[in-house]
Amino acid sequence: MIALKRFGQNFLVDKNILSLIISRAELNSNDCVLEIGPGHGVLTRALLAEKIYCLHAIELDERLRPELEELEKNEKNFNLHWGDAVKFDYNSLNPFPNKVIANIPYNITTPLIWNLLKFSSRGLKYFLFMLQKEAALRIIAEPDTKERYPLGVTIEAMGQAAIVKNVSKKCFRPIPDVDSAVVEIKIEKNFDLLNNSLWSGLLHKGFAHRRKTLINNLKGFNNISDIKLHEIFESADINKNIRAEDLTCGQWQKIFFQVRD
Ligand code: SAM
Repeated sequence: MIALKRFGQNFLVDKNILSLIISRAELNSNDCVLEIGPGHGVLTRALLAEKIYCLHAIELDERLRPELEELEKNEKNFNLHWGDAVKFDYNSLNPFPNKVIANIPYNITTPLIWNLLKFSSRGLKYFLFMLQKEAALRIIAEPDTKERYPLGVTIEAMGQAAIVKNVSKKCFRPIPDVDSAVVEIKIEKNFDLLNNSLWSGLLHKGFAHRRKTLINNLKGFNNISDIKLHEIFESADINKNIRAEDLTCGQWQKIFFQVRD
């Protein structure tokens, strides 16, 4: 099978990295795991070898159907699903997963994680992802850095993220152009933050033009008048010349609470 770039098909071949992912996830018999993009099933088999309650896997590339269906036939707690993980109806998963462990296709990283975070209110609170290193650095970026972006701020508002291991491109076949990193995300609070679009709307509007000040980017957001917007900045004690990337998570939350109420 020819690996397709558009499906982000760089398959993990390094056994040490595989072991690290499995041991880091601290799996137990109550865990229902979701894997995105099982590919040839390297990570899938390692997950199934653990004492977990169940495993769901979602794959887009139909060419993998024969080998993955063969695996599904022999594993009673393995549920295979076909489709695009970005558009997938996660509410249909039964039992519902509590952990996502995946070497994800890099081209869908940001929309996929946004989508998955919405399900923290249903108990999906632990994520262990192999990501492109640049994406990993954006997720953990501090305020006042050019890497800071809406998804990273959101994860900070809901819990914590850390790079567990930097991973060389040589650990994959075919060898990708970029290095990778294993990132662990733990969701611990604000589980319903993404239940409506206000928080993500605020961040995306705020970051829309990075060279503009935040207050300029937010003009007209959620029908808020300019006067009210200035009042919000004043009462939150936020400098009106600040840019989106410079705000702390706490400052974003202060603005959000006032926009919401
Ligand atoms: N898990 C395997 C491994 O670790 O070797 C494969 C990982 S490979 C980086 C990404 C996998 O995701 C491929 O199997 C690819 O076909 C699949 N994929 C790509 N886009 C997808 C999408 N939108 N939804 C679900 N799976 C997708």
